[in-house]
Amino acid sequence: MADYDVIVLGTGGAGLTAAVTAAELGARVGLFEKGHTVGGTTVYSGGMIWVPLNMHAPPEKGDSREQALAYLQALSCGTIADEMAETYIDRGPEMVRWLHERTPVQFYAVADFPDYHPEQTGGLPQGGRSLETPLFPYGELGDWAGRVHISPYYPTYHLTIGQTTLGMAVPEPLDPAELQRRAENDERGMGLALGGRLLKACLDRAVEPQTDHRGVELIVEDGEVAGVVFETPAGRREVLAPNVVIATGGFERDEQLKRSFLRGPCTHTVGIDTNTGDGLKMAMRAGAMLGNMREAWWMPMIEMPTDIVSTGQQLLTYERTLPGTIMVNRTGRRFTNEGANYNAFGAAFHEIDTIMGVYRNLPCWLIFDRVWLDKYGFAGGLGGETKARTDWIISSDTLAGLAAKLGIPADALVETVERFNRNARELRDPDFNRGWSAQDQWWGDPTLRDGTPRASLGPLETAPYYAIQVFSGALGTKGGPLIDTRARVLDLDGDVIPGLYAAGNAAACPLGMTYGGAGGTLGPAMVFGYIAGRDIAERVAQRSAALAGARGAA
Ligand SMILES: Cc1cc2nc3c(=O)[nH]c(=O)nc-3n(C[C@H](O)[C@H](O)[C@H](O)COP(=O)(O)OP(=O)(O)OC[C@H]3O[C@@H](n4cnc5c(N)ncnc54)[C@H](O)[C@@H]3O)c2cc1C
Repeated sequence: MADYDVIVLGTGGAGLTAAVTAAELGARVGLFEKGHTVGGTTVYSGGMIWVPLNMHAPPEKGDSREQALAYLQALSCGTIADEMAETYIDRGPEMVRWLHERTPVQFYAVADFPDYHPEQTGGLPQGGRSLETPLFPYGELGDWAGRVHISPYYPTYHLTIGQTTLGMAVPEPLDPAELQRRAENDERGMGLALGGRLLKACLDRAVEPQTDHRGVELIVEDGEVAGVVFETPAGRREVLAPNVVIATGGFERDEQLKRSFLRGPCTHTVGIDTNTGDGLKMAMRAGAMLGNMREAWWMPMIEMPTDIVSTGQQLLTYERTLPGTIMVNRTGRRFTNEGANYNAFGAAFHEIDTIMGVYRNLPCWLIFDRVWLDKYGFAGGLGGETKARTDWIISSDTLAGLAAKLGIPADALVETVERFNRNARELRDPDFNRGWSAQDQWWGDPTLRDGTPRASLGPLETAPYYAIQVFSGALGTKGGPLIDTRARVLDLDGDVIPGLYAAGNAAACPLGMTYGGAGGTLGPAMVFGYIAGRDIAERVAQRSAALAGARGAA
């Protein structure tokens, strides 16, 4: 007799969604987590999901199935199978509604947040596809409130839009009375709200995570999945179930796997420490075909003192999009639109100089001046009330002096800044078109948004000048076992491995290399977690019916 109908590995967005779905539809779910606390990278995050045609999108946003499909295909560079994109577009809205009607997992539309490539075919400059999660009172989790880890990257009691950095530069300070109210009620926001709500939905169905359980091996009998071997503090433990969902996150914390598979450097990551590719290795040993292995959710990152950010690193999202900054490479030249979406930076970071045979744009630096610093304050992605100290930032009274400190050619840096300033004063960027896209304008200074590049373009001309090194990082990887439209893992011949499912960053992302808009990673993670949960529940029901039939016949 199996211990469960399904074992779910991992308590991030993908795993929790699979667990709650399967449990709601009658399956006996065993939910296991390698870490001592739960929530994965998901609770570190902004908690947004990108789902075209969702029930919350105001009708005037004017989305359609054809537009959404055209958008994904246009961005995919051939990395998406048609049926996977269609499944995402069709099942995403179903998942949002299903969770909305049955669980505390609620969302609302983020007004006007443009897609990440809004001018691309099928893109929406007017937004409507990105959803965020309302605050969630952690008291509802009982003892589990203290077993969800806190995000080192975002404030605990803020929502995404307007109160931190994601999609909103120059954040409005939160009313102190409201902040105090939230703290007293322990109402957490962003990824903590999403993770908390998903966890509550599981607990409501008597699905309690078993922590300190690291899945290391699939038990396979006669070609079918039959359970998982775990490493626990008490030793190895075998747990039996005819279905397993691998939702163990990416392999961003394993140097060898990154070296083996990723298309370029990924020296920094904000993925949780436990995401070391265990699920990938389990699937490989079971004969799974792999997909999307070169890709990650790319992110420019910086290093900061640990008394500002405990992990010593931070995402570089909004500062580079504000007017008065540029980024330069080792030749002292700009190399891309600094206001582009973070994932797109992967392409710039991984460009090779064909003559010198090195990465053309690594190392690179963010450059700004005193006026910029006085106006915006370098908060290192933390936003809100945090105006970080700046003694860790390289500075000089002249651009030439700054170049000397960085070891880059002074004349080139001076020339680059002069050219940028000349054009910026005229609100043009003939080199990289910065500020043209609706996405640059959204992420730029909201007080300067007027439909021109002004929100993102402005000169840097007042000493002292500052520089911060920027690294090629990622939120997480997104390659893994190849799955079909039912989230079932496929083997090397394209056949289903019976009982094996994968979702989230542990799987080959069904949306290939695309990052459609804010929430583009948790969207597919949750939708395919949901699909896995439903498929498993059906499989369980069919088995029960077959067993009952056999008993009846006997
Ligand atoms: C600061 C920040 C902001 C972000 N904002 C957003 C956003 O707003 N929207 C968005 O879409 N994405 C966002 N992301 C990215 C997003 O958080 C991740 O892509 C997403 O959480 C991945 O979900 P997952 O369920 O696949 O993996 P995770 O959430 O990482 O969960 C994987 C879990 O599996 C566990 N695990 C690993 N190995 C094993 C094993 N062997 N056995 C059992 N358990 C195991 C891990 O401990 C972990 O708990 C952000 C990320 C960060 C860091």
